[in-house]
Amino acid sequence: MSTASEKAGVTPMMAQYLVLREAAGDCLLFYRMGDFFELFFEDAQIASQVLDIALTTRGEHGGQPIPMCGVPVHAAEGYLARLIKAGCRVAIAEQTETPAQAKERARKEGRASKALVARDIVRFVTAGTLTEESLLEPRRANVLAAACEVRGVLGIAACDISTGRMELEECPPDRLGAALARLGASELVVPEGWELAPDGAISRGGHEFSSDGGDERLKFVHGVATLDGFGTFTRAMLAAAGGLIAYLDHVGRGKLPLLLPPVARAGDAALAMDEATRASLEILESSQGGRKGSLVEAIDRCVTGAGARQLAEDLSAPLTDRLAIAERLALVEWLHDDPLLREDMRAALRALPDVGRALGRVVAGRGSPRDLGQLRDGLSGARRIGERLAQMDGLPVLLDRLMPDLGGHAALVDHFAQALVESPPTERGQGGYIASGYDAGLDELRVTSGNARRAIAALEAKYREQTGVTALKIKHNNVLGYFIEVPQRHADKLLEPDSGFSHRQTMAGAMRFNALALHEEASRITEAGAHALAAEEAHFEELVAEAVAARHAIARTAAALARLDVAAGQAERAAEGGWTRPEVVEGLSLEIEGGRHPVVEAALKVQGERFVANDCRLASHDRLWLIGGPNMGGKSTFLRQNALIVLLAQAGGFVPAKSARIGMVDRLFSRVGASDNLARGRSTFMVEMVETAAILSQATDRSFVILDEVGRGTSTYDGLALAWAVAEAVHETNRCRCLFATHYHEMARLGETCEALSLHHVRAREWKGELVLLHELAEGPADRSYGLAVARLAGVPPKVISRAKSVLEKLEKGRAETGGLAAGLGDLPLFAAAQEAQEEQCDVLRDKLRDMDIDALSPRDALEILYDLKREAGTES
Ligand code: ATP
Repeated sequence: MSTASEKAGVTPMMAQYLVLREAAGDCLLFYRMGDFFELFFEDAQIASQVLDIALTTRGEHGGQPIPMCGVPVHAAEGYLARLIKAGCRVAIAEQTETPAQAKERARKEGRASKALVARDIVRFVTAGTLTEESLLEPRRANVLAAACEVRGVLGIAACDISTGRMELEECPPDRLGAALARLGASELVVPEGWELAPDGAISRGGHEFSSDGGDERLKFVHGVATLDGFGTFTRAMLAAAGGLIAYLDHVGRGKLPLLLPPVARAGDAALAMDEATRASLEILESSQGGRKGSLVEAIDRCVTGAGARQLAEDLSAPLTDRLAIAERLALVEWLHDDPLLREDMRAALRALPDVGRALGRVVAGRGSPRDLGQLRDGLSGARRIGERLAQMDGLPVLLDRLMPDLGGHAALVDHFAQALVESPPTERGQGGYIASGYDAGLDELRVTSGNARRAIAALEAKYREQTGVTALKIKHNNVLGYFIEVPQRHADKLLEPDSGFSHRQTMAGAMRFNALALHEEASRITEAGAHALAAEEAHFEELVAEAVAARHAIARTAAALARLDVAAGQAERAAEGGWTRPEVVEGLSLEIEGGRHPVVEAALKVQGERFVANDCRLASHDRLWLIGGPNMGGKSTFLRQNALIVLLAQAGGFVPAKSARIGMVDRLFSRVGASDNLARGRSTFMVEMVETAAILSQATDRSFVILDEVGRGTSTYDGLALAWAVAEAVHETNRCRCLFATHYHEMARLGETCEALSLHHVRAREWKGELVLLHELAEGPADRSYGLAVARLAGVPPKVISRAKSVLEKLEKGRAETGGLAAGLGDLPLFAAAQEAQEEQCDVLRDKLRDMDIDALSPRDALEILYDLKREAGTES
């Protein structure tokens, strides 16, 4: 009997597929068929292209062949990794019953023939919800974030489900980009139709982002009646948390991953840096993309993945709490000053597995026996480290606080040590991971099957003797189980009616038989094996439950190990480079003596060149340095090295300088003139100005700003005018510490009017017609630009250089005759005075308007007044 859909030309399988396809939404559907995951239709076309695998067809739909491709189940992880990297998301539809169960079901339902195996989506694999070791980068956190708006305030929830960390924050709408840049999320979830949603965000129903729902979900996840014990959370934070957990629930099909209690992040707890600043300082990624050439690559000496992830987080969110910074620094110093202890700690840490991520997999229900083994080894390693440290006097405060987390777990470690074999397998299907001596019943089952195996080996000898066939063998395969095999030509003896052997299979050149005794022993093995497997499974579940119950304490241990690794790595890096402990103080000074750029220095070292160290001394009476000098002279390097030193110091690490005294910075800004950002669809100059506007509106007197050739991307006059006005505004209004690199000599004249501005330049010399760049910072304005000399150095043809020379001479002559590009700038009123004058004018206008009785005016009078106003505004044509 065929169903209605079959009559309509849709097979039952296709009907099932289409239902699942619908449920998969915009994810690719991996449809399990035996040992393969198959993809159909458009999914197959996309996957075959991304994975570079063959696209075939299977059957027809609507009269058209159905495109299909597939990947073997055992290799699926590798393919998934590539699809996720390419930006795809995948829904996994598994068979939820065996063919035998399907048959039974069909029988019960009265359908004798067709028994389609039931399938269901068991999980969505998305970039932000991975836990598999092979899909994650060991040295990078994998963050899933959710953002939404509640009454004009943004809530952001972020978690790394591979380790369970979760944090909630709140910020004004214009800080969304900065907050997301700090988090570096691999997936972002937002309410449907949200106008602030960034490109690539995943939309979910708006009702999932309610603060009450978020409150309920968090309480449910952590089994508490109130969240008060975790901190204070605002409505916006809770709404975002609600959206995040709802999404996790959706992708895990009801199974939630590891989530630790949420931590509320105060908006001002971290040194604020916007997206452009992060990109320009190349903190976690270089401008080429990737870790190579980034700050973190130059700093990272961590010996564990968890340490490297923590370091990346520290660098992404340096602190603004002097005490917390000092605590981190004290730990680094302690390890710096004791190289033997440091080496001990690093060796001990290096040997440890990634406890946090093993825990993540176990809690998500994707753990393997090997993960349990990793928990055992990691936690016992932490204990050993704790014991070693406990013998020492005068532990730094931070370490003292971590000590309880570097111990504990004794019962769990002992239990796991007894229960598990030394190196448990990643698969549990074959068993063999529970240690002998742990469960007498299991041991007995193993003895039984061992005995039976030996008995089978004895049977082989016996049957050989009995039949006289020396080539007789007892073999095993998955289809037949145990069987006797003899070469075809010797088969006669076993085929005799009362030989005791029964024929099973004829092969080319061989025949296979069974025998009663063999059957009995084989059954014993199968039965004991099945029981043993079931026993191991039960123990596995028990161990998992024990780990899950201890998840918070285990996660704290993982975090303590990571913190120790970061400190030891920072100490190692400092020792390697001769770095020093910075002093982070109140006040507005920035005194760096002998500062260096960690990335440029490392690059020069490879080429066998030396980095020239430079000083930076900013204070409230000298807070804006205008830096000139030749191209390639080292201006950008100097600007950045000082910003990086501030960042490193507030992240709690040593700095590449002889000494550093840093008045704590609240916001760090870095801008490079006319850097291309065509990908974002803005012209270079537009980007430059948008970013400059952000600085002028946000920098406070506690901020540190580096401006690298702002005003470069437009005509000389426009550029100079803007650079001039920006420098004045920074000096007068923002009053922040600022390093401003520029090629406009004319700006040197600002030194005459801005009392907290001073002039500096990078030194260069021409020697025997060749340009020598000294990379040395000196006081005073730059004498000239050396642009042509640099061009010659770069290999611009001599003819072009000499032509440029004559053009330059003409220009300079013209300039000298008219008094130069900056002629008349001396007559400009000061920035503040100009502003005051403008404001006065506004006040006068405002007064006039206020005194006016509009209802009493005739149309003619009104027109008259308008003419007057226009005349006063100076715009009368
Ligand atoms: P431009 O005006 O063209 O942007 P710049 O003055 O900003 O140039 P940088 O980009 O900072 O110059 O430096 C150019 C190169 O000079 C660097 O890539 C590096 O190789 C070298 N350099 C810079 N600073 C130093 C230093 N302090 N010691 C040694 N070499 C340096």
